[in-house]
Amino acid sequence: MRDVPVPRAGPGEVVIRVETALTCGTDLKTYRRGHPKFPFPFLMGHEYTGIVHEVGPGVEPFQAGEAVMAVHSAPCNACRMCRRGFQNLCETIIPRMAWGAFAQYYKAPAEVVQQNMFRRPDHVSPQRAAFLEPLACVVQGQGQIPLAPEDSVVIMGCGTIGLLHVMLAKQRGAGRIIVSGRHQERLRLAQELGATDIIDVDRQDSREEVQRLTGGRGAELVIECVGRPEAWQEAHWHAAQAGFVLLFGGCPANSTASFDTTRLHYDQLTLKGVFHFTPADVKQAYHYLCDTPLPVEKILSGSASLQELPEIIAQLDRGQGIKYAIQP
Ligand SMILES: [Zn+2]
Ligand SMILES: [Zn+2]
Repeated sequence: MRDVPVPRAGPGEVVIRVETALTCGTDLKTYRRGHPKFPFPFLMGHEYTGIVHEVGPGVEPFQAGEAVMAVHSAPCNACRMCRRGFQNLCETIIPRMAWGAFAQYYKAPAEVVQQNMFRRPDHVSPQRAAFLEPLACVVQGQGQIPLAPEDSVVIMGCGTIGLLHVMLAKQRGAGRIIVSGRHQERLRLAQELGATDIIDVDRQDSREEVQRLTGGRGAELVIECVGRPEAWQEAHWHAAQAGFVLLFGGCPANSTASFDTTRLHYDQLTLKGVFHFTPADVKQAYHYLCDTPLPVEKILSGSASLQELPEIIAQLDRGQGIKYAIQP
């Protein structure tokens, strides 16, 4: 923790007085082992909401004093990937990500202000609004895979992302939602949020359980949110014929996974990777937060001040809690 100057808003930029910033698995990973693209010292935190403190020249839609919610990146809309329609894979999105929400003041770059910033309605609490970024990722993920009302969905992993997938699958009308994981309290929370069945991977054989729960067919949709090659491999065993496997969890660099060719071929499985989100996903996530009862706040393990952040990160590192709301 150190003191830094309050950022000033340049052309098109907005400085926000942060009300709530959420901890995220990415923050924890970065804290543990550093980040190849963002060397320390580095301002962390990227899931945030707050009050506009200062607007730069040329910012029309927002004014000082207004509550806003936003994400930490936006596409350039000019590069090859953006022009191909993959704004989530914009060639310059990673280096231009604006971190720094674990602070009293956060500066949103002009492209975020233009594309991914919204007014926060009065009925949306800061803790709820701060879920905009992780929910946008989950919206992008589920947008890759069709979901029909009677479909069974297997969600592997019950951290923040797995639990958001549970809520969204329920909201979208999934028939059966089977969640596998290893923390008792998280599995119970998954049930509370809409899982119809849970599998404790420490005590049960998940492959057998999924087969039993789906009448031997497997699930039409499998969403992997663990981020380990073994889980990527396991995911395709849970898929029904013509099923979709969404490989959501990022694995360590250069790791590999292998798949059964017979299953992929004769059962016509689709394996899909997914990364980040587009402005359309952010708008959709904004709609879910403002206009639906999606119970995202239930994921929060508690709240803490900025001074308590190192202790909170240490707790998360020990596996205590899922996600905390930091109130600078
Ligand atoms: Zn995040
Ligand atoms: Zn681009």
